[in-house]
Order: sequence, then structure tokens, then C-alpha cells
Amino acid sequence: MSTLADNLSAISARIASAAQAAGRDSASVQLLAVSKTKPASAIREIHAAGVCDVGENYLQEALTKQQALSDLPLIWHFIGPIQSNKTKAIAEHFDWVHSVDRLKIAQRLSEQRPAGLAPLNICLQVNVSGEDSKSGCAPADLPALAKAVAALPNLRLRGLMAIPEPTDDRAAQEAAFATLRQLQEGLDLGLDTLSMGMSHDLEAAIAQGATWVRIGTALFGARDYGQP
Ligand SMILES: *Cc1c(COP(=O)(O)O)cnc(C)c1O
Repeated sequence: MSTLADNLSAISARIASAAQAAGRDSASVQLLAVSKTKPASAIREIHAAGVCDVGENYLQEALTKQQALSDLPLIWHFIGPIQSNKTKAIAEHFDWVHSVDRLKIAQRLSEQRPAGLAPLNICLQVNVSGEDSKSGCAPADLPALAKAVAALPNLRLRGLMAIPEPTDDRAAQEAAFATLRQLQEGLDLGLDTLSMGMSHDLEAAIAQGATWVRIGTALFGARDYGQP
């Protein structure tokens, strides 16, 4: 049985070797531990092993874990689809949101961000694979959305996020991530963040400039189906 600490060393080694292959400093790639469906105790364990950034997809599940872990200096990232009626709690309880794909949601997050907190870090999720079922704004709509979000007072637009269609083909993985990078460069807004790459495709994402890789399965093990 591999422990979380073993999984973390294996992931760190994959990140380091992918960064080296891309001629990048491995410190330029940050690890986001995606803990959906996993218990608070697993987050406590990964934190003890040195990880501070945690990604959650489901609000209620995240809030319950935040309460159980309020003694730890964790940085919480919301990475799931966002409904309007969830924006207030997300604005109050998270440091980053990676999954903003429309202006209405961004406006609500900005309005509802509590005054005492730093601006909420935002990534715009882009649908780079063109699948109807996936969330994310269409590439054609991105420039206007990015400009409008960058102007909102209580948000800090950091960059872009994508979840490409899963494939084992390395060239296809890289093509999707390259699309996201080029879209970001085209915005010319001085953005510093590309949230892309998961357990199965982090190498391709790092080759194309990922600054956050969002890793669930390879850290915490397979998720039970039928769970949220
Ligand atoms: C679940 C999830 C991940 C992690 O995926 P793994 O394949 O388990 O590493 C990353 N990003 C998002 C948005 C997710 O929902």
C-alpha cells in the first residue's frame, strides 16, 4: 500500500522531471491537491507532508472539511462548476476560484467578497476541446470576459484554466494545453497563471507552461464512483 507521502514524492518527481524536460524551474509549477470525495483526515495528512493548497469541487463538502481543518493554514481553491446561489459562500470561504466561465458569476463573487479579505484570485475556465457537455467559456468569448473580469474591484484575475477532453495521446494533450497558453498570451493582460494538467496529463501541461497542476487520483488514490 502506498502512503500519501509516497504518492506525494512520486508526483513531485514527475513535476520536477517534466519541468526539467521543458527547461523550466520546477518551482514555477505549483501543486494543487484535489481532495473531492476524500476525508478531511487525508488533507491533514497531505498538509503534514508539506502541501498547503487544496482544491475542492463541491461547496458543501468543502465547507465541512474547512471547519474540520480550521487549525491548519490551508489555501482553499474552488475548482468545480459554480451556480449563482453558491457564489456568496465561495467568495467568503476560498482564496482562489479556477472555474469562472461567465461574467454574472464573476460579478457576484466580486460583490460578495468580504471587505476584510484580499481580492479573490480568479482563473477563467475555457472550453478548449469544444465539447458541448463541458463547462468553460468559448475561446471566442474569452477576450471580452477577461477584460470585464479584470475590471472588477474585489477580484484579481490571475489566468486561465482548462480541463481538456481526456486522451492518452501526448501530442493531442499538448495541443489542447498549447491552445490555452496561446489564448492567455493573446489577452495581453499580464496574467501569471495557467491552471492545467491532472494526474494523467501533467507532463504535457508542464511542457506547455502550466503553473498549477491539479492532482487528485495520483495523490489520494481512486475516487469511489457514486460519490459526489
Ligand atoms: C477531479 C479534478 C481534478 C483531479 O483529477 P485527477 O485526474 O484525479 O488528478 C483536477 N481538476 C478538476 C477541475 C477536477 O474536477
